[in-house]
Amino acid sequence: MKIAIIGAGASGLLAGGVLSQEHDVTIFDKNEKCGKKLYITGKGRCNLTNDCDKEVYLANTVRGKKFMMSSINAFPPKQVIEFFEKLGLPTKVERGGRVFPQSDKASDVIKILQKFCQNCIIKLDEGVIDIAFENAQNCFKITTTQRIYNFDRVVIATGGKSYSATGSTGDGYKFAKKFGHTIVEIKPALVAIQLKDSFVKALQGITLKNVTLKAIADGKKLEFFGELLFTDKGLTGPIALSMSSHINRAEKVELSIDFKPALDETKLKDRCLRDIEANKNKSISTFAKLFFPKAVGKVVLERIKIDEQKQVNSFTSKERQDFIEMTKNFKVGYDGLYPLESAIITSGGVDTKEINPKTMESKLQAGLYFIGEVLDIDCLTGGYNLTSAFATAYACAKNMK
Ligand SMILES: Cc1cc2nc3c(=O)[nH]c(=O)nc-3n(C[C@H](O)[C@H](O)[C@H](O)COP(=O)(O)OP(=O)(O)OC[C@H]3O[C@@H](n4cnc5c(N)ncnc54)[C@H](O)[C@@H]3O)c2cc1C
Repeated sequence: MKIAIIGAGASGLLAGGVLSQEHDVTIFDKNEKCGKKLYITGKGRCNLTNDCDKEVYLANTVRGKKFMMSSINAFPPKQVIEFFEKLGLPTKVERGGRVFPQSDKASDVIKILQKFCQNCIIKLDEGVIDIAFENAQNCFKITTTQRIYNFDRVVIATGGKSYSATGSTGDGYKFAKKFGHTIVEIKPALVAIQLKDSFVKALQGITLKNVTLKAIADGKKLEFFGELLFTDKGLTGPIALSMSSHINRAEKVELSIDFKPALDETKLKDRCLRDIEANKNKSISTFAKLFFPKAVGKVVLERIKIDEQKQVNSFTSKERQDFIEMTKNFKVGYDGLYPLESAIITSGGVDTKEINPKTMESKLQAGLYFIGEVLDIDCLTGGYNLTSAFATAYACAKNMK
């Protein structure tokens, strides 16, 4: 069979390599090289999967969980590792099961996938403009920036719509719509959170460890524990990114930070009293440093209107109670998410209800397949998104008829 793959990214290259063992495969990419987005994954180190079982993968999948069950069963994370090791890419496991190439180079992942595709024709600098099915000839007509081709099967592996300089400009949605597919509204995911509060600028660059970010999003309670980082306009860091994936479709979001999640109110009160006793002749700003980085403490004290130069022994019980309340429940003003362009992943895309989960074939057009981020699937950080790209690619390639 003559097969066209649109997109030489993570999913397109893996599918191309597998399919080329039995078929004539041509991969098109609008870029001058393969895997431009792969190159920047994991800060240039490529967190290619996670050393976990499929249940953990599914627990980290935000959208598309049910749809992914079949393909992740057939190509679970452990098999992704085995697959790359067999191709000649030694890997290593880091904190949280994150798997990287031993060389710490995303470029090695691209090289190994390109080698795997040595029997494919790879046409670079050749963007696909249009895909049509020709009933008379029973084939797909692909129009590129260079010419027109005929193929028996077409795999759309064009990615999402973030970091568009890497080539993922959302063309796949346009192609899908042409064949009657529904596009679930796309939203940024794994992206920084914007805040209304003017104090944020003063906190830019500050990292908070072991805190809990809480949200009530359209009535649903969410919380993430870990590291948080202030930007000039809001919040980023692992827990802000995870939160973004869960609140990106909510109309009303209330956010707060618990700076001391390990202590309940009673324990925090006891600790406060002990620290007051031990520091009674010091300033309240010095006392606040026992709980927060200096600049954060300043914002907290301003919010509860305590003069930071005041001595600790003049702390009133009302002020102490306000201080505890602020430490456990510091409300911040949600002002939406950073734009899609800066998102690590696109949430939404081709509606998975219209795709066969075993083969990735369109239920609306025989011979047309969708793999990777163009589908309405998104996961949290930890190598799970590339795992989805690889698992959908593998399902498509192994089951294409
Ligand atoms: C900064 C950043 C860091 C990331 N880090 C990680 C990580 O460490 N681990 C992880 O699991 N995930 C990570 N991701 C997510 C991961 O990169 C994507 O989920 C994954 O690359 C999706 O694979 P894909 O094959 O669907 O699309 P892509 O890899 O985006 O490939 C799509 C390809 O299609 C091509 N294309 C698009 N339209 C056309 C057209 N009309 N004609 C021809 N070619 C076209 C594009 O040029 C592109 O090469 C990261 C994402 C970003 C932005």
